[in-house]
Amino acid sequence: MVEGASQMRAAVLCGPMDMQVETFPIPEPGPGQAVIRVETCGVCPSGLKILKDPSHFPERLWRVPGTLGHEVAGTIAAAGPAVDALAVGERVVHGPLVPCGRCRLCRRGRANFCLTSRDQEYLATGFAQYMLVSAATCLPTPEGLSDDEASFAEPLACCLNSVERAGVREGDTVVIVGGGTMGLLHLALVRALGARAIVTELDATRLRRAAELGADAVVQAGQSDTVEQVRALTDHRGAEAVIVCVGAAPAIEAGLAMAADCGAVNLFAGTWPPTTIALDPNRIHYKELVLTGSQSSTRAQHERALALMAARQVDVRSLITHRMPLEEIMEAHRVYGSGVGLKVLVKPWGVQ
Ligand SMILES: [Zn+2]
Ligand SMILES: [Zn+2]
Repeated sequence: MVEGASQMRAAVLCGPMDMQVETFPIPEPGPGQAVIRVETCGVCPSGLKILKDPSHFPERLWRVPGTLGHEVAGTIAAAGPAVDALAVGERVVHGPLVPCGRCRLCRRGRANFCLTSRDQEYLATGFAQYMLVSAATCLPTPEGLSDDEASFAEPLACCLNSVERAGVREGDTVVIVGGGTMGLLHLALVRALGARAIVTELDATRLRRAAELGADAVVQAGQSDTVEQVRALTDHRGAEAVIVCVGAAPAIEAGLAMAADCGAVNLFAGTWPPTTIALDPNRIHYKELVLTGSQSSTRAQHERALALMAARQVDVRSLITHRMPLEEIMEAHRVYGSGVGLKVLVKPWGVQ
């Protein structure tokens, strides 16, 4: 059990755009479990999507303390019986469930779809002062990396999954559709991989920011000649990889038109509400395009994300624009949703 305290503050989901912060008992770790003292938990697009319309999120999970927070960095506050690998006081990030390594999808290298771990309930509860986890999900935070930076392990791991699905290689030209936080995190990663990055975006401020953060070229999205402008930047051949970080049909359709022969288009963002896209099958057939998606990430991708950040090959510090206390959880989501800033970090123990 956690020394010296019995209660904690944690956010619960109550309804559309409604989370409340309440007092709960600190969870007790059982065998194989640990309790993380959460120092930082990032606000992310998937959480915001659920918050806007929680009707598709299981109602029995709404009032689970901390619900929706899954970009977690902190310190081990307590470890249950039979947990040898973790010591109280150790700095960790919360990673995905440990895959079985034996099921059909694990054997295909797709551990984020592990059939065995999908049977277990995976619910991250990081919008709280303490979070109960399976000890095996914890990954050590490398020395020299702050908790705020380490909380990017999950989103950066998702970007690694994305560039792997899109087959990005050194020397490629990659178009990133959308210059929001996840687009800019892709930008940092694509540059670290030695590829050239073109960012397209509707918003002029975001476009300027993408240029400041190292995009090789930026192109105003939504214009009649946006696709042409991108093609002109690639000797009219198109990009080897296009990563669509915007959940909107026109962005996906534009992305498909920007890919080179034998290129790949990865749909990184989900669309909500459900929609359809116009797709000329000949574009896929004659160009041998790969159209794929990516969601979530594996433990190996989390480890690689932490290593890239620790080596400062990917520096996320310039992406952090807001740090807000847990009591302002709704304001944190509103700020994130408004697009005025980039990464919004929730600090359950207050902002220094
Ligand atoms: Zn996320
Ligand atoms: Zn498996």
